[in-house]
Amino acid sequence: MKILKIQTLRGPNYWSIRRHQLIVMRLDLEELTERYSCDIPGFYEGLTSVLPSLVEHHCSPGVRGGFLSRVERGTLMGHIIEHVALELQQLAGMTAGFGRTRETSSPGIFQVAFEYDNEHAGRYAGRAAVRLCQSIVDTGTYPAEELTQDIEDLKELKAQASLGPSTEAIVKEAEARDIPWQQLNARFMIQFGYGCYQKRIQATLSNQTGVLAVELACDKEGTKQILRDAGVPVPRGTVIRYFDELQDAIDEVGGYPIAIKPLDGNHGRGITLDITKWETAAAAYDEASNASKTHSVILERFYTGRDHRVLVVNGKMVAVAERVPAHVIGDGQLTIEQLIEKTNKDPRRGDGHDNVLTRIVVDKTVLSMVTEKGYTLETVLPAGEVCFLRATANLSTGGSAIDRTDEVHPENAWLFARIAKIIGLDIAGIDVVTPDISKPLREVDGVIVEVNAAPGFRMHVAPSEGLPRNVAGAVMDMLFPPGQPSRVPILAVTGTNGKTTTTRLLAHIMKQTGLAVGYTTTDGIYIGDHLAEPGDNTGPQSAQLILRDPTVEVAVLECARGGILRAGLGFDTCDVGVVLNVSADHLGLGDIDTIEQMAKVKSVVAEVVMPKGYAVLNADDPLVVQMAERVKAQVAYFTMNPENEIVLRHTESGGLAAVYENGYLSILKGDWTLRIEQAVNVPITMKGRAPFMIANALAACLAAFAQGVKIEHIRAGLSTFVASTSQTPGRMNLFNMGSYHALIDYAHNPASYEALGAFVKNWPGHRIGVIGGPGDRRDEDFVALGQLSADIFDEIIVKEDDDTRGRERGSAAELISKGLQQVLGRVPEPRIRYEMILNETEAINTALDRAGAGSLVVILPESVNRAIQLIESRNPIKESNNNS
Ligand code: ATP
Ligand code: ATP
Ligand code: MG
Ligand code: MG
Repeated sequence: MKILKIQTLRGPNYWSIRRHQLIVMRLDLEELTERYSCDIPGFYEGLTSVLPSLVEHHCSPGVRGGFLSRVERGTLMGHIIEHVALELQQLAGMTAGFGRTRETSSPGIFQVAFEYDNEHAGRYAGRAAVRLCQSIVDTGTYPAEELTQDIEDLKELKAQASLGPSTEAIVKEAEARDIPWQQLNARFMIQFGYGCYQKRIQATLSNQTGVLAVELACDKEGTKQILRDAGVPVPRGTVIRYFDELQDAIDEVGGYPIAIKPLDGNHGRGITLDITKWETAAAAYDEASNASKTHSVILERFYTGRDHRVLVVNGKMVAVAERVPAHVIGDGQLTIEQLIEKTNKDPRRGDGHDNVLTRIVVDKTVLSMVTEKGYTLETVLPAGEVCFLRATANLSTGGSAIDRTDEVHPENAWLFARIAKIIGLDIAGIDVVTPDISKPLREVDGVIVEVNAAPGFRMHVAPSEGLPRNVAGAVMDMLFPPGQPSRVPILAVTGTNGKTTTTRLLAHIMKQTGLAVGYTTTDGIYIGDHLAEPGDNTGPQSAQLILRDPTVEVAVLECARGGILRAGLGFDTCDVGVVLNVSADHLGLGDIDTIEQMAKVKSVVAEVVMPKGYAVLNADDPLVVQMAERVKAQVAYFTMNPENEIVLRHTESGGLAAVYENGYLSILKGDWTLRIEQAVNVPITMKGRAPFMIANALAACLAAFAQGVKIEHIRAGLSTFVASTSQTPGRMNLFNMGSYHALIDYAHNPASYEALGAFVKNWPGHRIGVIGGPGDRRDEDFVALGQLSADIFDEIIVKEDDDTRGRERGSAAELISKGLQQVLGRVPEPRIRYEMILNETEAINTALDRAGAGSLVVILPESVNRAIQLIESRNPIKESNNNS
């Protein structure tokens, strides 16, 4: 077996609309091509002994053991690899259950698609599954050490990519509220929502967190000063920078017990608490001074009480946790060391911040705490006795947390909210030392020790005792208050032909409403009137660029087949999805071999439309009409034929449609006909002579109408949109050359030739064609092009692209000529002449030189820019409503 390609899908796709995270492996089964598992000796036994948990896979029989029974009865290796890849991920603690395997048109080559939780792990699981199955085929088993290593590696990959616990909590909350999120590639920032509605967080800092507030919170002394001036109880204390000042400072705070800590510390580093004698104070001074960037040390009176972390979000206290430093409780049998080991066995404890709790690490601090009690690690701790192992209660050093939210005295709750406001933090973690949080601080000598920006949520969402609190909900309430949208409208356009034209026209119509439109097309990404990035931009990354842009108020996205197959759509749902048509083009690429399969690819755009949105479908294209069945949204049809049965039925039952009737582009809504504009007044329809452009315009109008755009705006857009070389280069660019005309068009498949032909045939004079096509199309496509051209032109020059895309030079032109011959050979006296000039520039110049008065030269170029330059150098006449 050999893996030929691994693709990572991240959005709605060919395989599933709902499962966005899929790995697709193109797998050559080689020697296992036609071998069913039942015919491979020992395979079933080997597989069940290596991965007994596969019994849980129901598969098509739909019962426990279903999949294994299929292996026993005989199934192909691609299918088995799909299940093994899923199982490996599950064994590593990830959720992945969906998979599909299908044969391609190449013998022995399969596509295996399976879900992933983490994409790196997913790709690894695919490769490991192939290795594992191959080994069972060859040797009857897979070494246990290998399997253990695979699972370790998978866990590691997941851990590397996992978000911190606070971020994770916020992201989960966003998902629960159907707010889209994405990780940005810098600084672990997360974006929620799209375009102008987006909000960002980084850990628990939000884009609304003020930088002054953060700076103030990081300055413990400044914070205390501001709070003291506001009448908030804070520890009595002072800041010193020299050891000489230590004794005076101790006297100043009223003598022992004292606390010493670095001025600019966090996570409890460099802190010594409850100091009662000079030696300890001196050592504590050194430690704190070393931990401070500025060698500045805070000296405070030590307050007895419990340590609490109060979380205030958007001016409201949302949770309070009591933090208990790492400790063990004696049982009269185990030593302190054994007790620590036992405590660390708690499955909730992990390394670092990733788990609910963190393991206790025996280090210098732990040893000195134990020594201070007069014990060693070998001491058997008496039953019931508590031995603290840390002075500070940070979870990251093994502390635990008890929820106390419901016990807080109302006056304290008011005070905490006020403190966050005074510091200016939207999300604040306030450290409070008080013997009893249910009494007003002032009555029990409680103090505010510090205020933290970017406080961790772990102790609130997963306290070791007490109720978990949905603090992420408060953050989301703040970022997206009720009624505030998170998504900008997304209008997506797909089809075989006309995507770019329709996308541009639709974007132009949307601009008439005054909104900032971001749109992507084959020739670039645009924001408003500006080109943000040139190049073919019809894939998910281009969509993402628009959706990440903070100025964009509405997105219009051209979605081509390539991007959908390669990575899935770049958005999970949209407001309007337009499918223009499906015809034979790009067949044979990406394992899409039939036009029905291609329809399934394009149908993704219609199927992701949200229920209250509209799928805009071409009623004249049966493959597009069929998509209506799978659509969750409302359907709106467009048609060139006012008698179209489907549309008649649809509008009779109150449906929405657009139709070309009596020379008008009109919207039908139930019984009503709303005429938008006469085709002759719509420039891109070439005075109504290009039927396919009328169809594209109908689609754009209908999409805009479905999105709630007023008829006046649609009309204004239609009548000002021009198929110029600047607005739509290569799409029906007509040039007046004085005595004759030249047309540059990008038609590159049979359907678009036919569409173009419908226009060219309307041309009253002599028609010369300069034709050819991209080399990666199938042979029959070139032949078809030749056949069609024979009916359109009076004179033909066959040329080739410079880049033959792997095809032998001359062979594409031969195939086109063959098609021409097939048609011309049928008539006794060939009406037209044709010749081959492979070089495109030469072919174009020859045609232009030959053009007589009243004739039309139609150029289907490889390079639109070069063709435009060749024409411009002959000084065409500028016309106001066409080429600029
Ligand atoms: P973190 O990053 O966890 O917030 P930190 O390094 O910023 O910690 P502080 O919050 O100033 O340090 O102190 C850590 C803990 O030490 C406090 O939460 C409190 O329990 C205790 N503490 C600090 N100062 C005093 C004091 N003056 N009296 C009593 N306890 C104190
Ligand atoms: P691509 O796949 O290159 O991105 P596209 O779908 O974006 O193409 P356009 O760039 O809008 O399509 O148009 C390309 C050519 O297809 C046009 O110049 C025209 O010849 C033809 N075409 C446009 N619209 C249609 C249509 N509705 N039906 C058939 N052919 C069309
Ligand atoms: Mg603190
Ligand atoms: Mg395009």
